[in-house]
Amino acid sequence: MRMNIEMLHPADQIVMIMERIYKYGMTTTSGGNLSIRDDNGDIWISPAGIDKGTLTRKDIVCVKADGTIEGIHRPSSEFPFHKHLFEVRPDIMAVLHAHSPALVAFSIVRKIPNTHLIPNANLVCGEVGMAEYGLPGSDELGDKIAKVFAKGFNTVILENHGVCVGSQSLFKAFMAFETLDFCARLEIDAHKIGTPQGLSQEKIDLSDKKQHVHMQEFAPESFSSLERAARREMCELIHRAYDQQLFTSTQGTFSQRLNDKSFIITPYSLDRKYLDVEDLVRIEGDLKEAGKTPSRSALLHKLIYEKHPEINSIIIAHPPHVMAFAVTQEPLDSKTIPESYILMRNIPRIPFGASFMQPGMTADVFTKTTPIIMLTNDCLIVTGSSLLNAFDRLEVAEYTAMAIIASKDLGEIVKIDDAKIEELEIAFKLDR
Ligand SMILES: [Zn+2]
Repeated sequence: MRMNIEMLHPADQIVMIMERIYKYGMTTTSGGNLSIRDDNGDIWISPAGIDKGTLTRKDIVCVKADGTIEGIHRPSSEFPFHKHLFEVRPDIMAVLHAHSPALVAFSIVRKIPNTHLIPNANLVCGEVGMAEYGLPGSDELGDKIAKVFAKGFNTVILENHGVCVGSQSLFKAFMAFETLDFCARLEIDAHKIGTPQGLSQEKIDLSDKKQHVHMQEFAPESFSSLERAARREMCELIHRAYDQQLFTSTQGTFSQRLNDKSFIITPYSLDRKYLDVEDLVRIEGDLKEAGKTPSRSALLHKLIYEKHPEINSIIIAHPPHVMAFAVTQEPLDSKTIPESYILMRNIPRIPFGASFMQPGMTADVFTKTTPIIMLTNDCLIVTGSSLLNAFDRLEVAEYTAMAIIASKDLGEIVKIDDAKIEELEIAFKLDR
Protein backbone atom coordinates (compact mmCIF):
# COMPACT_ATOMS: atom_id res chain seq x y z
CA MET A 1 0.00 0.00 0.00
CA ARG A 2 1.21 3.45 -0.84
CA MET A 3 1.34 5.50 2.31
CA ASN A 4 -0.69 8.65 2.63
CA ILE A 5 2.25 10.85 3.51
CA GLU A 6 0.16 13.77 4.65
CA MET A 7 -1.41 11.55 7.37
CA LEU A 8 1.98 11.10 9.05
CA HIS A 9 2.77 12.86 12.34
CA PRO A 10 4.40 16.31 11.80
CA ALA A 11 7.66 15.12 13.43
CA ASP A 12 7.84 12.15 11.03
CA GLN A 13 7.15 14.37 8.01
CA ILE A 14 9.96 16.73 9.06
CA VAL A 15 12.41 13.82 9.46
CA MET A 16 11.45 12.36 6.06
CA ILE A 17 11.76 15.60 4.15
CA MET A 18 14.99 16.65 5.90
CA GLU A 19 16.48 13.30 4.95
CA ARG A 20 15.48 13.86 1.33
CA ILE A 21 16.91 17.39 1.25
CA TYR A 22 20.18 16.40 2.93
CA LYS A 23 20.67 13.23 0.88
CA TYR A 24 20.30 15.11 -2.41
CA GLY A 25 22.93 17.67 -1.45
CA MET A 26 20.42 20.47 -1.07
CA THR A 27 21.54 21.57 2.40
CA THR A 28 24.54 21.28 4.73
CA THR A 29 24.28 19.72 8.17
CA SER A 30 24.02 23.13 9.86
CA GLY A 31 21.88 24.96 7.29
CA GLY A 32 18.19 24.64 6.58
CA ASN A 33 15.12 24.12 8.74
CA LEU A 34 11.58 22.83 8.36
CA SER A 35 8.37 23.48 10.27
CA ILE A 36 4.73 22.41 10.29
CA ARG A 37 1.82 24.16 12.00
CA ASP A 38 -0.67 21.56 13.22
CA ASP A 39 -4.43 21.80 13.73
CA ASN A 40 -3.91 23.06 17.33
CA GLY A 41 -1.74 25.93 16.15
CA ASP A 42 1.38 24.29 17.64
CA ILE A 43 4.51 24.60 15.51
CA TRP A 44 6.73 21.53 15.01
CA ILE A 45 10.22 22.50 13.91
CA SER A 46 13.65 20.97 13.28
CA PRO A 47 16.10 21.51 16.18
CA ALA A 48 19.07 23.88 16.43
CA GLY A 49 22.57 22.49 16.09
CA ILE A 50 21.73 18.82 15.49
CA ASP A 51 23.29 16.79 12.65
CA LYS A 52 20.81 16.83 9.74
CA GLY A 53 22.14 13.49 8.53
CA THR A 54 20.93 11.54 11.58
CA LEU A 55 17.71 13.32 12.59
CA THR A 56 15.01 11.16 14.24
CA ARG A 57 11.43 11.80 15.39
CA LYS A 58 12.46 12.55 19.00
CA ASP A 59 14.81 15.35 17.86
CA ILE A 60 11.91 17.43 16.52
CA VAL A 61 10.78 20.28 18.78
CA CYS A 62 7.18 21.40 19.39
CA VAL A 63 6.57 25.06 20.20
CA LYS A 64 3.07 25.39 21.67
CA ALA A 65 0.81 28.25 20.72
CA ASP A 66 1.44 29.76 24.22
CA GLY A 67 5.22 29.66 23.71
CA THR A 68 6.12 26.60 25.83
CA ILE A 69 8.67 24.33 24.24
CA GLU A 70 8.41 20.53 24.25
CA GLY A 71 11.33 18.36 23.25
CA ILE A 72 14.90 17.48 24.10
CA HIS A 73 16.50 20.25 22.00
CA ARG A 74 16.16 23.97 21.37
CA PRO A 75 14.09 24.91 18.29
CA SER A 76 15.94 26.04 15.16
CA SER A 77 17.57 29.46 15.50
CA GLU A 78 15.40 30.55 12.57
CA PHE A 79 12.19 29.85 14.54
CA PRO A 80 11.37 33.62 14.61
CA PHE A 81 10.93 33.84 10.85
CA HIS A 82 8.89 30.62 10.66
CA LYS A 83 6.57 31.97 13.38
CA HIS A 84 6.32 35.34 11.67
CA LEU A 85 5.44 33.76 8.37
CA PHE A 86 2.66 31.63 9.91
CA GLU A 87 1.25 34.80 11.49
CA VAL A 88 0.99 36.77 8.24
CA ARG A 89 -0.26 33.81 6.18
CA PRO A 90 -3.01 31.79 7.94
CA ASP A 91 -3.29 29.58 4.80
CA ILE A 92 0.31 28.37 5.07
CA MET A 93 0.77 25.21 7.20
CA ALA A 94 4.41 24.32 6.44
CA VAL A 95 7.64 26.24 5.89
CA LEU A 96 10.83 24.96 4.25
CA HIS A 97 14.11 26.85 4.38
CA ALA A 98 17.38 25.62 2.83
CA HIS A 99 20.70 26.72 1.36
CA SER A 100 21.02 24.59 -1.78
CA PRO A 101 24.16 25.56 -3.74
CA ALA A 102 22.27 26.44 -6.94
CA LEU A 103 19.72 28.64 -5.16
CA VAL A 104 22.45 30.23 -3.04
CA ALA A 105 24.21 31.10 -6.32
CA PHE A 106 21.11 33.03 -7.38
CA SER A 107 20.73 34.61 -3.91
CA ILE A 108 24.28 36.01 -3.91
CA VAL A 109 23.90 37.62 -7.33
CA ARG A 110 20.37 38.63 -6.27
CA LYS A 111 18.62 37.10 -9.25
CA ILE A 112 15.51 34.91 -9.48
CA PRO A 113 15.74 31.59 -11.40
CA ASN A 114 13.76 31.44 -14.64
CA THR A 115 10.79 29.09 -14.06
CA HIS A 116 9.71 29.38 -17.71
CA LEU A 117 12.50 27.23 -19.17
CA ILE A 118 10.34 24.11 -18.84
CA PRO A 119 6.55 23.70 -18.57
CA ASN A 120 4.92 23.11 -15.14
CA ALA A 121 7.77 24.64 -13.08
CA ASN A 122 5.98 27.96 -12.95
CA LEU A 123 2.80 26.19 -11.92
CA VAL A 124 4.55 24.31 -9.07
CA CYS A 125 6.64 27.22 -7.74
CA GLY A 126 4.27 30.12 -8.43
CA GLU A 127 5.79 33.58 -8.89
CA VAL A 128 9.09 33.79 -7.03
CA GLY A 129 9.82 36.78 -4.75
CA MET A 130 12.99 38.22 -3.22
CA ALA A 131 13.45 39.20 0.45
CA GLU A 132 16.05 41.71 1.66
CA TYR A 133 19.08 40.54 3.61
CA GLY A 134 18.69 40.33 7.40
CA LEU A 135 20.76 39.04 10.35
CA PRO A 136 20.12 35.27 10.74
CA GLY A 137 17.77 34.46 13.62
CA SER A 138 16.67 38.08 14.03
CA ASP A 139 13.13 39.43 14.16
CA GLU A 140 14.27 41.90 11.51
CA LEU A 141 14.93 39.01 9.05
CA GLY A 142 11.50 37.61 10.00
CA ASP A 143 9.88 40.94 9.17
CA LYS A 144 11.62 41.17 5.81
CA ILE A 145 10.63 37.64 4.75
CA ALA A 146 7.06 37.98 6.09
CA LYS A 147 6.63 41.23 4.15
CA VAL A 148 7.19 39.37 0.85
CA PHE A 149 4.92 36.46 1.86
CA ALA A 150 2.23 38.97 2.89
CA LYS A 151 2.15 40.10 -0.77
CA GLY A 152 1.08 36.57 -1.73
CA PHE A 153 4.42 35.01 -2.77
CA ASN A 154 4.88 31.39 -1.60
CA THR A 155 8.44 30.94 -2.85
CA VAL A 156 11.02 33.55 -1.90
CA ILE A 157 14.77 33.89 -2.52
CA LEU A 158 16.55 35.40 0.53
CA GLU A 159 19.34 37.82 -0.43
CA ASN A 160 22.80 36.41 0.41
CA HIS A 161 21.24 33.46 2.22
CA GLY A 162 19.05 30.85 0.48
CA VAL A 163 15.39 30.15 -0.16
CA CYS A 164 12.14 29.93 1.82
CA VAL A 165 8.96 28.14 0.68
CA GLY A 166 5.55 28.15 2.38
CA SER A 167 2.74 25.77 1.44
CA GLN A 168 -0.37 23.93 2.65
CA SER A 169 1.79 20.89 3.39
CA LEU A 170 5.48 20.12 3.82
CA PHE A 171 5.37 17.77 0.83
CA LYS A 172 4.00 20.49 -1.43
CA ALA A 173 6.66 22.89 -0.10
CA PHE A 174 9.32 20.28 -0.90
CA MET A 175 8.05 19.88 -4.47
CA ALA A 176 8.20 23.65 -5.03
CA PHE A 177 11.70 23.79 -3.53
CA GLU A 178 12.93 20.80 -5.56
CA THR A 179 11.47 22.25 -8.77
CA LEU A 180 12.97 25.70 -8.19
CA ASP A 181 16.33 24.11 -7.41
CA PHE A 182 16.04 22.12 -10.67
CA CYS A 183 15.33 25.35 -12.59
CA ALA A 184 18.34 27.01 -10.95
CA ARG A 185 20.72 24.15 -11.81
CA LEU A 186 19.32 24.02 -15.34
CA GLU A 187 19.85 27.72 -15.92
CA ILE A 188 23.41 27.57 -14.55
CA ASP A 189 24.34 24.66 -16.87
CA ALA A 190 22.56 26.16 -19.88
CA HIS A 191 24.62 29.34 -19.52
CA LYS A 192 27.80 27.26 -19.77
CA ILE A 193 26.92 25.98 -23.26
CA GLY A 194 24.73 28.72 -24.78
CA THR A 195 21.84 31.04 -24.14
CA PRO A 196 18.82 29.58 -22.33
CA GLN A 197 15.51 30.54 -23.93
CA GLY A 198 12.30 30.43 -21.90
CA LEU A 199 8.85 29.40 -23.09
CA SER A 200 6.30 32.06 -23.96
CA GLN A 201 3.24 32.27 -21.69
CA GLU A 202 1.20 31.02 -24.66
CA LYS A 203 3.24 27.81 -24.83
CA ILE A 204 3.08 27.33 -21.05
CA ASP A 205 -0.72 27.71 -21.16
CA LEU A 206 -0.86 25.17 -23.97
CA SER A 207 1.03 22.69 -21.81
CA ASP A 208 -1.03 23.41 -18.66
CA LYS A 209 -4.18 22.61 -20.60
CA LYS A 210 -2.75 19.31 -21.79
CA GLN A 211 -5.64 16.88 -21.67
CA HIS A 212 -5.87 13.74 -19.62
CA VAL A 213 -6.33 10.68 -21.77
CA HIS A 214 -9.96 9.72 -22.11
CA MET A 215 -10.16 5.97 -22.04
CA GLN A 216 -12.84 3.50 -21.05
CA GLU A 217 -11.92 1.37 -18.05
CA PHE A 218 -11.50 -2.34 -17.48
CA ALA A 219 -11.10 -4.23 -14.19
CA PRO A 220 -8.14 -6.62 -14.48
CA GLU A 221 -9.14 -10.22 -13.79
CA SER A 222 -5.62 -11.36 -13.05
CA PHE A 223 -2.00 -10.28 -13.04
CA SER A 224 0.43 -12.59 -14.82
CA SER A 225 3.83 -13.32 -13.30
CA LEU A 226 5.31 -11.50 -16.30
CA GLU A 227 3.34 -8.38 -15.42
CA ARG A 228 4.23 -8.65 -11.71
CA ALA A 229 7.92 -8.88 -12.61
CA ALA A 230 7.58 -5.93 -14.98
CA ARG A 231 5.92 -3.83 -12.28
CA ARG A 232 8.59 -4.67 -9.74
CA GLU A 233 11.41 -3.91 -12.17
CA MET A 234 9.81 -0.60 -13.15
CA CYS A 235 9.44 0.54 -9.53
CA GLU A 236 13.05 -0.37 -8.77
CA LEU A 237 14.37 1.60 -11.75
CA ILE A 238 12.07 4.56 -11.09
CA HIS A 239 13.40 4.82 -7.51
CA ARG A 240 16.95 4.52 -8.80
CA ALA A 241 16.38 7.18 -11.46
CA TYR A 242 14.89 9.47 -8.84
CA ASP A 243 17.81 8.92 -6.46
CA GLN A 244 20.22 9.69 -9.31
CA GLN A 245 18.26 12.89 -9.91
CA LEU A 246 17.39 11.92 -13.48
CA PHE A 247 13.99 13.40 -12.69
CA THR A 248 12.12 15.20 -9.90
CA SER A 249 9.13 14.00 -7.79
CA THR A 250 6.33 14.30 -10.30
CA GLN A 251 8.11 14.40 -13.64
CA GLY A 252 9.11 11.45 -15.74
CA THR A 253 7.18 8.59 -17.27
CA PHE A 254 8.21 4.98 -17.66
CA SER A 255 6.37 2.32 -19.61
CA GLN A 256 7.00 -1.29 -20.51
CA ARG A 257 5.30 -3.45 -23.12
CA LEU A 258 3.59 -6.64 -21.91
CA ASN A 259 2.41 -7.95 -25.30
CA ASP A 260 1.04 -6.79 -28.70
CA LYS A 261 -1.76 -4.77 -27.23
CA SER A 262 -0.92 -4.02 -23.63
CA PHE A 263 1.68 -2.16 -21.58
CA ILE A 264 2.10 -0.75 -18.08
CA ILE A 265 2.80 2.92 -17.44
CA THR A 266 3.44 5.28 -14.52
CA PRO A 267 0.44 7.17 -13.10
CA TYR A 268 -0.16 10.90 -13.44
CA SER A 269 1.48 13.14 -10.83
CA LEU A 270 2.17 10.71 -7.89
CA ASP A 271 5.48 11.28 -6.07
CA ARG A 272 8.06 9.08 -7.86
CA LYS A 273 10.02 8.61 -4.63
CA TYR A 274 7.28 6.48 -3.05
CA LEU A 275 5.78 4.89 -6.18
CA ASP A 276 4.68 1.29 -5.61
CA VAL A 277 3.78 -1.63 -7.92
CA GLU A 278 0.04 -1.12 -7.48
CA ASP A 279 0.25 2.53 -8.57
CA LEU A 280 1.29 1.55 -12.11
CA VAL A 281 -1.48 1.51 -14.71
CA ARG A 282 -2.10 -1.23 -17.26
CA ILE A 283 -3.28 -0.08 -20.69
CA GLU A 284 -4.97 -2.78 -22.76
CA GLY A 285 -5.92 -1.81 -26.31
CA ASP A 286 -8.05 1.32 -25.86
CA LEU A 287 -8.84 0.59 -22.21
CA LYS A 288 -7.15 1.66 -18.97
CA GLU A 289 -7.05 -0.13 -15.64
CA ALA A 290 -10.08 0.91 -13.56
CA GLY A 291 -9.76 3.67 -10.97
CA LYS A 292 -6.31 4.87 -12.05
CA THR A 293 -5.05 7.89 -13.97
CA PRO A 294 -2.21 7.10 -16.39
CA SER A 295 0.42 9.67 -17.34
CA ARG A 296 -0.93 12.20 -19.82
CA SER A 297 1.55 10.88 -22.38
CA ALA A 298 -0.14 7.42 -22.47
CA LEU A 299 -1.40 7.96 -26.02
CA LEU A 300 2.11 8.75 -27.29
CA HIS A 301 3.42 5.55 -25.65
CA LYS A 302 0.60 3.55 -27.25
CA LEU A 303 1.37 4.94 -30.71
CA ILE A 304 5.11 4.27 -30.37
CA TYR A 305 4.45 0.63 -29.39
CA GLU A 306 1.98 0.18 -32.26
CA LYS A 307 4.34 1.59 -34.88
CA HIS A 308 7.56 -0.02 -33.62
CA PRO A 309 7.35 -3.72 -32.68
CA GLU A 310 11.07 -3.71 -31.73
CA ILE A 311 10.51 -1.13 -28.97
CA ASN A 312 9.57 -2.69 -25.62
CA SER A 313 10.12 0.20 -23.24
CA ILE A 314 9.87 4.00 -23.25
CA ILE A 315 11.14 6.58 -20.75
CA ILE A 316 10.25 10.26 -20.87
CA ALA A 317 12.54 12.19 -18.55
CA HIS A 318 14.12 15.56 -17.80
CA PRO A 319 17.71 14.73 -16.84
CA PRO A 320 19.09 18.09 -15.68
CA HIS A 321 22.26 18.22 -17.81
CA VAL A 322 20.52 16.98 -20.97
CA MET A 323 17.88 19.64 -20.37
CA ALA A 324 20.59 22.33 -20.59
CA PHE A 325 20.79 21.38 -24.29
CA ALA A 326 17.00 21.26 -24.64
CA VAL A 327 16.59 24.87 -23.41
CA THR A 328 19.36 26.25 -25.65
CA GLN A 329 19.99 25.77 -29.36
CA GLU A 330 23.01 23.54 -28.68
CA PRO A 331 22.80 20.03 -30.17
CA LEU A 332 23.64 17.09 -27.89
CA ASP A 333 26.34 15.53 -30.05
CA SER A 334 26.88 11.82 -29.37
CA LYS A 335 30.17 11.60 -31.34
CA THR A 336 32.16 12.12 -28.16
CA ILE A 337 33.06 8.62 -26.96
CA PRO A 338 32.13 5.23 -28.50
CA GLU A 339 29.66 4.36 -25.70
CA SER A 340 27.68 7.56 -26.35
CA TYR A 341 27.38 6.99 -30.10
CA ILE A 342 26.63 3.26 -29.80
CA LEU A 343 23.76 3.78 -27.36
CA MET A 344 22.34 7.10 -28.49
CA ARG A 345 23.14 7.39 -32.22
CA ASN A 346 22.06 10.78 -33.61
CA ILE A 347 19.55 12.62 -31.46
CA PRO A 348 17.08 14.71 -33.49
CA ARG A 349 15.32 17.68 -31.90
CA ILE A 350 11.62 18.34 -32.40
CA PRO A 351 9.66 21.46 -31.38
CA PHE A 352 7.97 22.03 -28.03
CA GLY A 353 4.40 20.72 -27.94
CA ALA A 354 4.82 18.14 -30.73
CA SER A 355 4.58 15.21 -28.29
CA PHE A 356 1.04 16.10 -27.23
CA MET A 357 -0.18 18.13 -30.24
CA GLN A 358 1.04 15.62 -32.86
CA PRO A 359 1.73 12.34 -31.03
CA GLY A 360 1.46 10.29 -34.24
CA MET A 361 4.10 12.38 -36.01
CA THR A 362 6.32 12.25 -32.92
CA ALA A 363 6.03 8.44 -32.82
CA ASP A 364 7.09 8.34 -36.51
CA VAL A 365 10.41 10.07 -35.76
CA PHE A 366 11.75 6.92 -34.07
CA THR A 367 13.59 4.48 -36.34
CA LYS A 368 16.08 1.66 -35.80
CA THR A 369 18.84 4.29 -35.97
CA THR A 370 16.97 6.90 -33.90
CA PRO A 371 16.20 5.53 -30.44
CA ILE A 372 16.17 8.91 -28.66
CA ILE A 373 14.59 12.26 -29.48
CA MET A 374 14.86 15.60 -27.74
CA LEU A 375 11.94 17.99 -27.35
CA THR A 376 12.87 21.64 -27.12
CA ASN A 377 12.20 23.09 -23.62
CA ASP A 378 10.49 19.87 -22.64
CA CYS A 379 12.11 16.47 -22.28
CA LEU A 380 14.05 13.56 -23.69
CA ILE A 381 12.14 10.52 -25.01
CA VAL A 382 14.22 7.35 -24.80
CA THR A 383 13.21 3.97 -26.21
CA GLY A 384 14.76 0.54 -25.80
CA SER A 385 14.46 -3.15 -26.58
CA SER A 386 13.95 -3.63 -22.80
CA LEU A 387 13.41 -1.44 -19.76
CA LEU A 388 17.07 -1.83 -18.78
CA ASN A 389 18.20 -0.92 -22.30
CA ALA A 390 16.11 2.29 -22.24
CA PHE A 391 17.37 3.11 -18.73
CA ASP A 392 20.97 2.57 -19.83
CA ARG A 393 20.41 4.99 -22.73
CA LEU A 394 18.94 7.57 -20.38
CA GLU A 395 21.97 7.37 -18.08
CA VAL A 396 24.40 7.53 -21.00
CA ALA A 397 22.59 10.61 -22.35
CA GLU A 398 22.87 12.37 -18.99
CA TYR A 399 26.53 11.43 -18.49
CA THR A 400 27.37 12.53 -22.04
CA ALA A 401 25.69 15.89 -21.41
CA MET A 402 27.61 16.25 -18.11
CA ALA A 403 30.90 15.52 -19.88
CA ILE A 404 30.25 18.03 -22.69
CA ILE A 405 29.28 20.75 -20.19
CA ALA A 406 32.37 20.01 -18.07
CA SER A 407 34.62 20.17 -21.17
CA LYS A 408 33.58 23.75 -21.99
CA ASP A 409 36.13 25.28 -19.63
CA LEU A 410 38.89 22.92 -20.76
CA GLY A 411 39.12 23.42 -24.52
CA GLU A 412 37.64 22.52 -27.90
CA ILE A 413 35.95 19.11 -28.22
CA VAL A 414 37.62 16.79 -30.73
CA LYS A 415 34.78 14.78 -32.26
CA ILE A 416 35.11 11.20 -33.47
CA ASP A 417 35.32 11.60 -37.25
CA ASP A 418 33.03 9.96 -39.83
CA ALA A 419 35.47 7.21 -40.79
CA LYS A 420 35.84 6.14 -37.16
CA ILE A 421 32.06 6.33 -36.69
CA GLU A 422 31.63 3.96 -39.65
CA GLU A 423 34.20 1.65 -38.14
CA LEU A 424 32.16 1.64 -34.90
CA GLU A 425 28.91 0.91 -36.74
CA ILE A 426 30.48 -2.11 -38.43
CA ALA A 427 32.34 -3.46 -35.39
CA PHE A 428 29.29 -3.17 -33.12
CA LYS A 429 26.79 -4.32 -35.82
CA LEU A 430 24.69 -1.18 -35.42
CA ASP A 431 21.63 -0.65 -37.64
CA ARG A 432 22.54 1.65 -40.54
ZN1 LIG B 1 19.41 29.79 6.69
